[in-house]
Amino acid sequence: MDTVDAKMETVDTEIETFDMFRNDPAHFVKLKHLTPETRNLILELGPCQPLSSDLPGKSFPKDVTKENRSFKEIYYYRILPDKTKCLRDWLSYSPSTNKIYCMHCFLFGTNLHRNLEKSWTKNGFDSWKNLSSGIEYHELTNDHVNATLNLEYQRKIEIAMNRQVVNEIIDIVLYLARHNLAFRGHRDNWSDISAQIQQAVVQSNMFSISIDSTFDASRREQVSFVVRFVDDKFGLVHEKVIAIKESPVTTGKDLYSLFVAIMEKEKLNWKDCLIGQSYDGASNMRGNYKGLQAHIKRECPQALYVWCHAHRLALVVKQAVSCDSNSRYLFGNLESLYVLLWCSKKRAATFRETQKKTLT
Ligand SMILES: [Zn+2]
Repeated sequence: MDTVDAKMETVDTEIETFDMFRNDPAHFVKLKHLTPETRNLILELGPCQPLSSDLPGKSFPKDVTKENRSFKEIYYYRILPDKTKCLRDWLSYSPSTNKIYCMHCFLFGTNLHRNLEKSWTKNGFDSWKNLSSGIEYHELTNDHVNATLNLEYQRKIEIAMNRQVVNEIIDIVLYLARHNLAFRGHRDNWSDISAQIQQAVVQSNMFSISIDSTFDASRREQVSFVVRFVDDKFGLVHEKVIAIKESPVTTGKDLYSLFVAIMEKEKLNWKDCLIGQSYDGASNMRGNYKGLQAHIKRECPQALYVWCHAHRLALVVKQAVSCDSNSRYLFGNLESLYVLLWCSKKRAATFRETQKKTLT
C-alpha cells in the first residue's frame, strides 16, 4: 500500500511539475493550425530549457533502452571556436515527453513533411546517443537556417510596425496639442458629449451664452457658441463649446437665426432658462435695435447683455500700448515682418530653416 501511495505521490509531483512548464513544446506541437496570435504567444513564452534541478528527479530521465543515456543541459548552448557559449534559443526540451524540439522549424519551417524535420517539429528528437551530432547537423540544415531567417524577418517587421505606430501616435498627440483638443476615445463621439452638456445645463436650470466670430486659417468666418452654467452639485462654473458654425454673413439677424437653430438642435430651453449673453462690442452684437442681443431680448427679456470683459480689456491694452511711440514702433515692425515673411512660401521656409538652426 505504501508503495502505491509513494507512486501516486510521484505521479502528482510530476503532473504539478509539467504544469509549471507552460512552454513545454509537447503542448504546442499537437496544434493543427497556428494563428499569428498563437505563434506570438509561443514566441513570448520562449523555449523550454529547464535545468536538471528543476525536474522532479533532479535529473533528466535516463533511458534504459538507450544505454542509460539522457539529455544534458549543456546542449542548450553552442560552444563557438573561441570557447564562448551561445544559447540555442531554438532548442526546447519537453519535460512531459523527455524529447527535444526545434521551435524555429515548428513555427517558421516551410518543409515540414520531411521525416527528418518531423522528428524536430512533431515527434520530438530523443536519440541521445547521437545528440551532439544530431543537433549540430540540424542547425546547419537549409530548412532550419531558413526558419531562423524567417523568424528574424518577422521580428524586424514587427519592430518596424511598432515604430510606425509610435510615430503616428506622436503625430496625433502633437496635432491635438497644437489645436488645443482633448484626447478622446472612439466612444467619445459628439452626440455623447452633446447629450452630457444638455443634461448638465437642464439640471442647472439657467445658463448664459457667449458668441464670437473669427477667421480661421482658411480665411472662413467661424462663429463659436459657448454655454456657461453652474453645476447643481458642487456649485462649479462650467464653460462648454456647443457648436462652431461657418457663417459668411454676420448681421445681428443672421446670428440670431443661427443661435435659434443651435438651441433647437441642442434641445436647450433658452426662452425660459437663458439669463445672460456676452459678446464683443461690435454693432451686430450689441446694437440696441438690430444687434443680436436685442433680437434675443425681445423673446427672452431676462437675458442680460454684458459686453465681454476680455474684449474690453483687449481694447484697453491696445489703446494703452498705442499711446507709447516705442511700443507702437515695436508692434508695428513686428506686424510688418510677419506680413513680409508669411505672404511668401519661400520666405516662410527660409525663416523656418533659420529658426531650426538657431534653436539647435
Ligand atoms: Zn530547426
